[in-house]
Amino acid sequence: MPSSPSLATQLQANFIASSQASSEAGSSRLTRGLSVSNQKAKGRTSQVWNHCSFPPDAIVHNARGKSIWQCKYCFTILQEKGGTGHMITHLREKCKINLQTSHEARIERYQQGIEESFRNVINQNSDYKRRRLNTTTYTESVDPSILEDLYVKWITSCGVSFNMVGREEFRSLLQYLNPGVDSWLPATGDTIQKWIMRKYALYKSSIIDDIQNSLSKIHITVDLWTSGNYKSILGVVGHYIATDGQLKHNVLGVRELEGDHSGENQAKVVIAVILDF
Ligand SMILES: [Zn+2]
Repeated sequence: MPSSPSLATQLQANFIASSQASSEAGSSRLTRGLSVSNQKAKGRTSQVWNHCSFPPDAIVHNARGKSIWQCKYCFTILQEKGGTGHMITHLREKCKINLQTSHEARIERYQQGIEESFRNVINQNSDYKRRRLNTTTYTESVDPSILEDLYVKWITSCGVSFNMVGREEFRSLLQYLNPGVDSWLPATGDTIQKWIMRKYALYKSSIIDDIQNSLSKIHITVDLWTSGNYKSILGVVGHYIATDGQLKHNVLGVRELEGDHSGENQAKVVIAVILDF
């Protein structure tokens, strides 16, 4: 069975470019005994596949039937086995491609999250008075405003309980990672709740600014569903073009709908949300 023409064509073009090609047009059998499988590869997420002479989902075998990866710059062939480390090494050292390992990419994403918190904290002028609970020599390495921003982001997106902060096991883990953290973390979930409400107020006011300065009309979408505890919840999302020209989507409200599900009843909730902004 021949493979899809576009893939075969692309592969052949690459092999011709490698100056040793003499592939048969229209055939799935390529030079140097390479062949394209009819099956598609799944889950090839490594960036090395962006630097491969064939598409990430194509499975190409060498003459011995082993699946291979081929550098799209120098056409070197490496066997696809035992991960992608040898391909990364090849791309970096032989073809001078500036690649990150998945570990480096992950660290960079964390760093971006932390930098975002720095920007948030600067924009929000959160110069709250804070009580330092005790003194350790390490405390200086933790900025309490950043800690608060990151903590709130974490617990609100990961469904973590307010009371987690009081759990000894959790605090031991943090203590191990950075002994300076403990003195800035509240003892109870009540304070965490206050942190969240404070962040909510800050983010809400920035969204209000954003919406009031928007370059477009505000388009509203509404969705009604039932929560795990059987409440009817109405979600209201605003879509608009912000001052930077970017299309934005922001959740404006997640409100409980009391009474029937009629349009009229839902409209009351939607109007209340709109007036809030
Ligand atoms: Zn190469």
